[in-house]
This record gives sequence, C-alpha cells and structure tokens, in this order.
Amino acid sequence: MADQGGVAQVWRRIRSIYNIQGNHCTTCDTYYFPPRLVCPKCRRKGKLEDYRFKGLGTVYTFAIVRQAPQDFKRQVPYVVAQVQLDEGPRLTAQIVNCEPSSVHIGMRVRACFRKITEYGHGGIIVYGYKFEPTMRVTGHD
Ligand code: ZN
Repeated sequence: MADQGGVAQVWRRIRSIYNIQGNHCTTCDTYYFPPRLVCPKCRRKGKLEDYRFKGLGTVYTFAIVRQAPQDFKRQVPYVVAQVQLDEGPRLTAQIVNCEPSSVHIGMRVRACFRKITEYGHGGIIVYGYKFEPTMRVTGHD
C-alpha cells in the first residue's frame, strides 16, 4: 500500500483513455464483452457496432483468494468476482477498495483502473479494469 499516492496520479492521467470496449448487436439489442465478430443469435442478420460499457454493474458471484501467484502476494486476500454489467454481459474482475468480507452477491460496483503488476524495477506496468463499490467515495473526482 506504500505506493498508493503515485499510483493515484497515474490513474487520473490514464482515466481519460480507459474504457471497457465491447460491442452491441442493433438487430437483437444484445451487448457483448469481449466483442464478438458475429452475433451468435442473429448470425448474418446481425449488425454489430462498437460499444463502450458504462462500467456499472452488480456482483454476480465472487471468491475470496487467499493464495496467489508471486506477483500478487502483497494483495492477498483479494476478491475476484463475476460482475454483471448493467448492459448484460458478465466479466471477471478483482473487487477493490473494500474489505473482502463486505463483498456480497448483488453489490453495486463500478469499474476503476488499477495497476495489476509491475515487471522489474521501473519496468512495464500492466493496468486493467477492476471494480469498486459504488458507495465508496474515492476523493479525487
Ligand atoms: Zn443479434
């Protein structure tokens, strides 16, 4: 947790380009994440257009992870959940900014950007979406 300040600065810079990109079939009004090449319901009749998800959803299922690969050790225990986006699709993501014991099915969450891991000293930083409770005020918006 010692690097929270620096990481917060990066989040703010990168937030403008952050999104969860999927697509939407305008024929049957179904949203897909990850994006599909062909709508499995409509096949050739489907018309897919790019769609940026709003990043709001609900915890569908979750697990508390107490043993983790080396790179993640500092974060144990952490919560991995299937989040059902408001538009319909589900994705797997870590739930952050709350106590693991407070996570529950049906909890409202929103996407946020977090550092996942860093390779070497001053090396490549990998970012990805994670989710946090919508009730939590993080202070910098
Ligand atoms: Zn379709």
